Amino acid sequence: MKIIPYGKQSIDERDIAEVVKVLRTDWITQGPVVEKFEKALAAYCGSKYAVAVSNGTTALHLACLAAGLTKGDEAITTPITFLATPNSVLYAGAKPVFADIDYDSVNLTANSIEKRLTKKTKAILPVHFAGLSCDMAEIGKLAKKNKLKVIEDACHSLGSQYSVDGKWYKVGSCEHSDMTVFSFHPVKHITSGEGGAITTNDKKIYEKLKMLRSHGVVKTSQMAKSKGSWYYEMRDLGFNYRLTDFQCALALSQLKKIHTFLARRRAIANMYDKAFANVVGVEIPVYGEEKQHAYHLYLLKIDFMGLGITKKKFFERLKDKDIFCQMHYVPIYKQPYYADKMKTASKKCPNSEKYYERAVSIPIYPKMTDGDVQRVSREIINLLQKGSKG
Ligand SMILES: *Cc1c(COP(=O)(O)O)cnc(C)c1O
Repeated sequence: MKIIPYGKQSIDERDIAEVVKVLRTDWITQGPVVEKFEKALAAYCGSKYAVAVSNGTTALHLACLAAGLTKGDEAITTPITFLATPNSVLYAGAKPVFADIDYDSVNLTANSIEKRLTKKTKAILPVHFAGLSCDMAEIGKLAKKNKLKVIEDACHSLGSQYSVDGKWYKVGSCEHSDMTVFSFHPVKHITSGEGGAITTNDKKIYEKLKMLRSHGVVKTSQMAKSKGSWYYEMRDLGFNYRLTDFQCALALSQLKKIHTFLARRRAIANMYDKAFANVVGVEIPVYGEEKQHAYHLYLLKIDFMGLGITKKKFFERLKDKDIFCQMHYVPIYKQPYYADKMKTASKKCPNSEKYYERAVSIPIYPKMTDGDVQRVSREIINLLQKGSKG
């Protein structure tokens, strides 16, 4: 039968033509399309600036450096995230500290973050999980009060929105943060193969990000005038984290279709909501009217124990039917590297544990047909009903 993965890209002939167009020019990297994509992304998010980089992980790394994270600092994040979020804190020499999630939203809250504050806390990295934004106004308020930097990990949440006092904000507008990070990996909302970006409203941060993206080098027209046209200065230890022009052409072409992608993801989620609403032992995503979900993932929380089936069996049975679910994620503090080397496992996160027992990401991507969605729903419901009968 047709294989249904948990997520995949949607590339059409228009995307391909845009990439090919750039490949025929003299600029396949560090050319004009990078800036064109950055401008379009910033305009979409409602931020002043955007910096395109090689992937979401390098975006997080540069954001941590631009936030000034360094040895001796702590940064608070969630254990229910991709490895890259806390790893980027380690790359900067600082220590990630895990605060518990809110079980319903699977997000950090200002309250859970506050419990982990110490004198060493320098930054917060909230992750807008699955496509649902955190309560950014409250997190922003807590950060301001404690003079902390906020880096939003929005790798799941391009196109997500939240409202505060009736006013709507796009994730990435950086209205309540210093920076927001995106990924353009094929499973995310838009793709450039590998790719990432940071948005910000702070000119200094913007310039630092651009410098760090390319070896920490600065070259200005002023320098050219006084020292010579060849002159450049390395001012910081930077990297080569650049994104190519043909990848930006793909990202730009994809960004033009974000509305259709989001609409399809929301329609699929709506079908799943209806299919699973009354299934015993299954919880569907819940959130308030002050949020607009971007549905990078569609998560079910299943009471496997109560239904008499193990999570392992559930995954295997669906795989037999060519339906591939995923687990986002194993709590980071359980990872051997973190548990053994970082000693971050000491403080338990009970909501994260409960979430890990129950959560399953089921397939969602724009190219899924209504028939695919019905097939996935039917197979899952059959399986769970069989499970409960032993
Ligand atoms: C995908 C993802 C990243 C990393 O992005 P890459 O482009 O794969 O490096 C970081 N954080 C979260 C939450 C992600 O989902």
